[in-house]
Amino acid sequence: MTRRPLIAGNWKMNGLRSDLAWMDTLGAELEGGRPDCDLVLFPPATLIGGLIEPGQAQGVSIGGQDCAPAASGAHTGDISAEMLADLGCSHVIVGHSERRADHGETDAQVRAKAEAALRAGLTPIICIGETLDDREAGRAEAVVTAQLQASAPDAPASLVVIAYEPIWAIGTGRTASDDDAQAMHAAIRANWRGDDAQALRILYGGSVKPDNAKGLLSRPDIDGALVGGASLDAQSFAAIARCVR
Ligand code: PEP
Repeated sequence: MTRRPLIAGNWKMNGLRSDLAWMDTLGAELEGGRPDCDLVLFPPATLIGGLIEPGQAQGVSIGGQDCAPAASGAHTGDISAEMLADLGCSHVIVGHSERRADHGETDAQVRAKAEAALRAGLTPIICIGETLDDREAGRAEAVVTAQLQASAPDAPASLVVIAYEPIWAIGTGRTASDDDAQAMHAAIRANWRGDDAQALRILYGGSVKPDNAKGLLSRPDIDGALVGGASLDAQSFAAIARCVR
């Protein structure tokens, strides 16, 4: 089974209206040859509206960085999956480790958010990953596969995306080795609860840069990347996208 690679950029809480020009810069970068992959950008919610149409022009889908489990109601400050879909989003990140840490999000809440995304017709990118303590204690695979079981909804593999993001690699400049990342991706695929695991796209995230992307993306179970810091620069993001196998 061939899985189409996906390169996603997560701007986190970065970006002002002056950064909307990023999409034009990316378009110019890709003019010489478009990589054979899906491209999705996750700007802050304030910039989604301004990036949908420029994204369509450049073949870049837009997603939200989080969504509420409920469709609407008395949840001040929250944004529902339906609202993201209404804006023209196609994807939403759920369970990013920064939200798990900053907002105490549990696996059960992450699963409810992923279910909300599916209800609204969005593709959830469900983030899982171990701490440095977990890795050093030799329990990384057990922790990550337990998160997978508890955070992923009962859904066809083709409708969701998993992002394996070791917490110690996010924003630190440290990356899992190609071998360690491949081993974890294979374990995630082996522990997918459905019989359609070959259709499951599993992204790697954690300090992906143009100079380490090729090695990671050439591994058989690594189907793309979730890129944080390096996605703020359109040229770096394009360089990573050009590394797809
Ligand atoms: C992320 O935000 O998901 C991420 C992996 O960040 P960075 O690439 O900066 O480590």
